[in-house]
Amino acid sequence: MQRTFIGDLRSHIGEKVQIHGFLQTLRDQKKMQFLIVRDQTGLVQVAFWKANDAALAEQISTLGAESVVTITGAVVDNPVVKLGGLEVQLESLQVESTAGSPLPLDPFAETIPSIDYRLDWRYLDMRRPQVAAIFQVQTTAEQAFREYWLQHNFIEVHSPKLMGSPSESGAELFEVQYFETKAYLAQSPQFYKQMAMAAGFERIFEIGPVFRADPSFTSRHMTEFTGIDMEISYIESHEDVMVFLENMLAHVYSRVKEVHGEKIKEMFGVDLVVPTTPFPRIPMTRALEILKEEGYQLPAEKKGDIDPGGERTLYNWVKKTYNHDFFYLTDWPIAVRPFYHMRYADRPEVTKSFDLIANGTEIVTGAQREHRYDILAKQAVEKGLSLETIQFYLDFFRYGCPPHGGFGMGLSRLLMMMLNLPNIREAVFLFRGPNRLNP
Ligand code: ATP
Repeated sequence: MQRTFIGDLRSHIGEKVQIHGFLQTLRDQKKMQFLIVRDQTGLVQVAFWKANDAALAEQISTLGAESVVTITGAVVDNPVVKLGGLEVQLESLQVESTAGSPLPLDPFAETIPSIDYRLDWRYLDMRRPQVAAIFQVQTTAEQAFREYWLQHNFIEVHSPKLMGSPSESGAELFEVQYFETKAYLAQSPQFYKQMAMAAGFERIFEIGPVFRADPSFTSRHMTEFTGIDMEISYIESHEDVMVFLENMLAHVYSRVKEVHGEKIKEMFGVDLVVPTTPFPRIPMTRALEILKEEGYQLPAEKKGDIDPGGERTLYNWVKKTYNHDFFYLTDWPIAVRPFYHMRYADRPEVTKSFDLIANGTEIVTGAQREHRYDILAKQAVEKGLSLETIQFYLDFFRYGCPPHGGFGMGLSRLLMMMLNLPNIREAVFLFRGPNRLNP
């Protein structure tokens, strides 16, 4: 018999159907049993008259919560039933898998355990509809990104994650044994995105894994995350990249709101706002003035960089000044940017780069890249890099390469900001951190 999704039952009133799902709760009464069954589309009440089959009633009463069942029965309209005003009257039941009892984590208990405990039992934690909703939103968001790129003639690439030399810097690098030699896990697709520009692909994107051996325990860092990256050729400056990005994000937010707006409001208390474009832009020199005006003191070691407290202070300022949740911090000093960021011809201490801050947290870094071989090599030497190890990359710029730029965004950071989640661990399917490699 063909499966009917619980969410579609209303259009099957009066019919016999088969449903699959988890037994969320069982109310075992004197004459009747009520089983609340859940699939990915919703919950339904299944009613069984014990007198119909005493042996089956006995089997049902021993079923642990969260066992997996297949039920066939008739769908009846019953306005008295709180759950959607209908019920399935059980005719047969097949137990697909029994759940042990007690559950180490009851997804529907009144109090939710600590995040660390929930991550130990992530598959049980993920049975909460709020968690599934995060990944439904993520699916729509990713699709909207792709939609937008495809409308703009992008090519999708998948760059290797095993590398012979570091892609960003020696820090935060995972080393792996690679036969007789060493390899590194890619810290970003940066070099290969630029290679695609040298290949004449002009516009590319990649959604793929990124590895960072960052030993920090913040609420927004992971050692492995999904990066959303793109690179475009023939730009005049990083401004072109910012314009593309803000329009694309407006598209993504609009699609997510269209598909999940109501659910997001109900489950996360967030009334999703599709951002207006252009986003405010604040050059770093102005940002430092604003921080001073707002009485925020950057930690002494953050020379030229902005710490998370500074990002939040600037965000509050942007919110009260422009009533916007996004802003670009532009024109970063070379000291805190990588060697491949292009510098202003008339301000060689300043890079043509930006960060995008959403709801107070950085979610994107982007820049125009230096595509002129000699200047790029010089900047690498200045940053203390060995030309030998990056020669393969420098070579991309020896035989013609268009001016280009792009950005890298963390998918879970975006989700976290979009749904106002307190911790990136909530926004990722499986978290990887310094102390977590399992499950
Ligand atoms: P941060 O300053 O927050 O450590 P970063 O400047 O090192 O980030 P980039 O190297 O510019 O980050 O990476 C681009 C984007 O990738 C970031 O804006 C963020 O969205 C995401 N990202 C970077 N590091 C992490 C991480 N450890 N965990 C999750 N997402 C990350």
